[in-house]
Amino acid sequence: MDFGDTPEEAAFRAEARDWLEANAPAKGSPEAFDLMSSPGRSTEQEKELAGQARNWQAKLASGGWACLDWPPEYGGRGASTAETIIFEQEQSRFGISMSMFMAALEMAAPTLMTWGTDEQKQQFLNPIRRGEMVFAQLFSEPNAGSDLAGLQTRAVKDGDEFVVNGQKVWNSYAHLADWGILLARTNPGVPKHQGLSYFFVKMDSEGLELRPLRQMTGGAEFNETFFDNVRIPAENVVGGVDNGWAVAQTTLNSERAAVGAQASVVDVRALVELAEEKGQAGDLAVRQALARAWMRSEVLRYLGMRVYTALSQGAEIGPEASIMKLLTGDHLRDTSQTAMELLGPEGMLDDDAWVTRMVSHFAHKIGGGTPEIQRNVIGERILGLAREPRADRGIPFRELKV
Ligand SMILES: Cc1cc2nc3c(=O)[nH]c(=O)nc-3n(C[C@H](O)[C@H](O)[C@H](O)COP(=O)(O)OP(=O)(O)OC[C@H]3O[C@@H](n4cnc5c(N)ncnc54)[C@H](O)[C@@H]3O)c2cc1C
Repeated sequence: MDFGDTPEEAAFRAEARDWLEANAPAKGSPEAFDLMSSPGRSTEQEKELAGQARNWQAKLASGGWACLDWPPEYGGRGASTAETIIFEQEQSRFGISMSMFMAALEMAAPTLMTWGTDEQKQQFLNPIRRGEMVFAQLFSEPNAGSDLAGLQTRAVKDGDEFVVNGQKVWNSYAHLADWGILLARTNPGVPKHQGLSYFFVKMDSEGLELRPLRQMTGGAEFNETFFDNVRIPAENVVGGVDNGWAVAQTTLNSERAAVGAQASVVDVRALVELAEEKGQAGDLAVRQALARAWMRSEVLRYLGMRVYTALSQGAEIGPEASIMKLLTGDHLRDTSQTAMELLGPEGMLDDDAWVTRMVSHFAHKIGGGTPEIQRNVIGERILGLAREPRADRGIPFRELKV
């Protein structure tokens, strides 16, 4: 099996690299932008970075490099999964952060392509591709995360509109978004998965309030979102009223695929260089840690290739995405811990990536499904263990004790 580029892919990589070198800011250059919040960054500074990210997405679109795998009728190139990944790999070598577009590009757009009406596709897809519409995911609630279908935010029909009341939480980049993808309960008289609807909601709607959540990294990428009689036009329901669970599966599968397809997140070479720089590369315990880190990163690389292969063959992502997600969390924790030990007390003052990785690995583990949920998937889908018992099966939502 050859995991290298084919001659066509190598030519595509060279073309992408040339274009990026001519157009993208280098890592660490004054034009580079990284949206992961850092301590002390003001809202204004964050909005400025978000503006740079929007400009970059617009530049990609005008250069013909945005949304490569979208069908040409939606402005894409109909590129293969391999080509899309090659472009992302090349782009990651530059001073660019695309995390703000995750909900628009990896969640809202694929969901629209599957479930949207022609009018909805017309309204949203092109502006998303050009970076003009940033989205936030408004799914989780204080009492509904792993058990998302237990959510309580209500949407009640009133003429041509729905009136929404409730609270969402952990909404990444919602303070920078123009639109939200919202899951709300439209029918509490049926079992919990059956009475949900999926909406597009404008983030500047009257009655919608955001409160930032500051994390231990010092940044505040997350928000709580409160709905107080927010009115949403009925035409902004995606995929039909009370059909939101099926629609949300498209969003969640696509999110999982995006997370699962991420390249190995830690460059072990950088860790080796740090050990050498600190004169610790001969230390027995350090050498053991470096070897373990390298082995994990190789396992992640090959698992990533399985995910890419499944994607390129149009197959569903299997439980390997769960294994990848679990292993990536462990890899982030262990490598950043090794780096912090190498840095010693200096590590606490270090404002580069290691300390941020150290404190943010918890978030990586939880977002997109906790370790326990991933292990449940592995237990059920790989090991064939009995499914978890569900006491709420078939019971109307309003009769559940929540
Ligand atoms: C980095 C990050 C980004 C996020 N971005 C968004 C976003 O943009 N929009 C959004 O809507 N949400 C977002 N979330 C929220 C995320 O989806 C939830 O945090 C996640 O689904 C877990 O839900 P919870 O926090 O309510 O924990 P809970 O579901 O309450 O879980 C609490 C604990 O119980 C365990 N547990 C729960 N159920 C089971 C079970 N069946 N078996 C065994 N153990 C179980 C969990 O593993 C966990 O340890 C984000 C979270 C993070 C960390």
